[in-house]
Amino acid sequence: MKTANGHEIIQLFESWSPKFYALDDDPIGLQIGQLNRPIQKVLVTLDVTFEVVQEAIDQECQMILAHHPPIFRPLKNLRTDSPSGKMFALCIKHDIAVYAAHTNLDVAPGGVNDLLAEALGLQEINMLEETYAEPMMKLAVYVPTSASEDLRKSLARAGAGKIGNYDSCSFSSAGIGRFQPLEGATPTIGTKNHLEEVSEDKVEVVFPASNKFKVLKAMYAQHPYEEVAFDLWTLDTKTQEQGIGRIGILEQPMSLDEFAQRVKDRLSVPFVRIVGEAGANIRKVAVLGGDGNKYIPKAKRAGADVLVTGDLYFHVAQDAQALGLNVIDPGHHVESIMKKGVSEKMNGMCKEKKFDCTFIASEISTEPFRIL
Ligand SMILES: [Zn+2]
Repeated sequence: MKTANGHEIIQLFESWSPKFYALDDDPIGLQIGQLNRPIQKVLVTLDVTFEVVQEAIDQECQMILAHHPPIFRPLKNLRTDSPSGKMFALCIKHDIAVYAAHTNLDVAPGGVNDLLAEALGLQEINMLEETYAEPMMKLAVYVPTSASEDLRKSLARAGAGKIGNYDSCSFSSAGIGRFQPLEGATPTIGTKNHLEEVSEDKVEVVFPASNKFKVLKAMYAQHPYEEVAFDLWTLDTKTQEQGIGRIGILEQPMSLDEFAQRVKDRLSVPFVRIVGEAGANIRKVAVLGGDGNKYIPKAKRAGADVLVTGDLYFHVAQDAQALGLNVIDPGHHVESIMKKGVSEKMNGMCKEKKFDCTFIASEISTEPFRIL
């Protein structure tokens, strides 16, 4: 086991839920404190409140991982006589780092929306709306024919040339490479001030843009030349599509009220608000944790019989009714499902990496409402 520092822990987390999955202007990432120190215990929470920070201190956590960024709008002051100011001051005083993973965690496979979809028993789960797709890149590298095979293998090991259910895809064409080593050069082939001609292959491979540095590192490590000639460009084709919200089907159809009861039970909420007729037939279900008001038309177009989302506004509910889309609002706090989900996922990942770090779910409910 190895004691990891904060950077390593966050790097591991972001290998699952990268920042680039987040929607525009979402203030995610490290918000309070610093990462350059050992982290052995992390408290996972939906919201950061004074009580949650106190829990982190009591549990001897060095970091809090929150779904809702505590600094959502720019701060105008840091007065410690306000509730949020008191909370920030407690973090600083006890050196508690706070890291926020918001819409990137909604989008990530296995993140908040997948956890909700699975809890509701959905099958054949797809994203509701695509929000991210990664451009593909292409590398064309010139290599002596004798070294071509080793280079192709090395690029494949770095993940280049994976297309659908195939890996090690590449294309080579044979040609002649020409160069003249100058003063200061230590050429693998040829001598100084003499024009050299070498039988070379042009090897072409594609890979997702996020894999660029790994692929180039493998190329430089394997290529025999002092100076490597290559072209690298971004393609118009996309890969690794990700999105927000989920849509799936139930194992068998049920009425809207039966499904609403399932939402209540499985998401452990005391009540739900329902738009639609009690007996409406439900098979295809869209779900979006948090505030999904603006996804009503999208859910309708996607053919959902019902959308499960929180913070439903009065007029949006009327619009949904007019559109003929059933809606179930179990409240925003159902996103607290991420506390257990993220803890389990990260404990598994830490174990694999042999990091001596434990993620624990906060036991404090940040639900502000009480039902009378
Ligand atoms: Zn939320």
